[in-house]
Amino acid sequence: MNKVAIIGAGRVGETTAQILAEKEICREVVLLDVREDAAKGAALDICQTSAFFDFDTKVDGGENSSVITDSDLVVITAGIPRKPGMSRSDVLATNVAILDNILLQVLEFAPDSKLLIVSNPVDILTYHAWKKTGWDRSRVFGQAGVLDASRMASLIAQETGFSSMDITTLVLGGHGDTMVPLPRYCTVNGIPVTQFVDPEKLAEIIARTREGGAEILKLRKTSSAYVAPAASIVAMVDAISHNRKRILPCVAILEDEYQESDIAMGVPCILGDGGMEKIIELELNKDETALFRQSVSHIRGDLERLISL
Ligand code: NAD
Repeated sequence: MNKVAIIGAGRVGETTAQILAEKEICREVVLLDVREDAAKGAALDICQTSAFFDFDTKVDGGENSSVITDSDLVVITAGIPRKPGMSRSDVLATNVAILDNILLQVLEFAPDSKLLIVSNPVDILTYHAWKKTGWDRSRVFGQAGVLDASRMASLIAQETGFSSMDITTLVLGGHGDTMVPLPRYCTVNGIPVTQFVDPEKLAEIIARTREGGAEILKLRKTSSAYVAPAASIVAMVDAISHNRKRILPCVAILEDEYQESDIAMGVPCILGDGGMEKIIELELNKDETALFRQSVSHIRGDLERLISL
């Protein structure tokens, strides 16, 4: 991939740009932010790490939308993050207005790009971006499950003492209280995690995964999580850039998969140079299906609020 644009040079955007540049996942990274000189300053700062991290990725930034011209992929991290005590849904109205403004810029300057939505509430904003652009669903998707699964893997690693590199986890559903961690699909190098973690501990891990973002926000107070979110975005960009055909949980538009349509939510997807190339359908058991449906109805509630804005 040649050029990745990141809209929103805040904590998540800037950290994503740094990792993308360091890993040389694309030739050029640009940051766009409405705050005067913020994106330019962030880009300059990242460039000045190139000698330490040995990269020659071009990094630039500004507040003029033309910086995103001809980007292959646009990552949207602009918006207000929630404050302690707020849910992701509480920032809906503000972030939809911000997204609308950004989509106009994307349609003008990067009309052939793919869109990776990060701003919250990510399920709703991904749906909104898909509707507004009219693009094929393969080009509009969001990040949630990669982060949620990495949080769960990290908690399992802490509990068992095993390397997190050997731990595979899967989290579906909405990015919020109704997310659906799937312990049945969690393994330590192929061995079911239930062999190492007792049911009560696993229930605690699942609860902590659901609250993962809120836990960090409560500790940090003035900032939500941004390092693991950025690393999760980079995993998705890397899969697309290298056409890896990775199976990663993405916020995707459902068209009859999981018996749902006209909704965006977290499901396992194949990510490659075609973007969100295919949704993988899992056979969920009765309990998993009930949790998934609960997540669907929560998202549908937010979608109704979106329509009434
Ligand atoms: P932040 O406040 O540090 O950064 C947001 C940036 O967006 C600011 O620099 C702001 O100036 C910029 N911005 C606002 N309106 C803009 C516009 N119209 N055009 C360009 N830039 C604009 O916030 P953050 O911590 O980086 O979080 C950003 C978003 O990502 C939030 O909505 C947060 O909830 C979300 N988030 C999502 C996930 C996820 O897993 N999906 C994880 C972490 C954060």
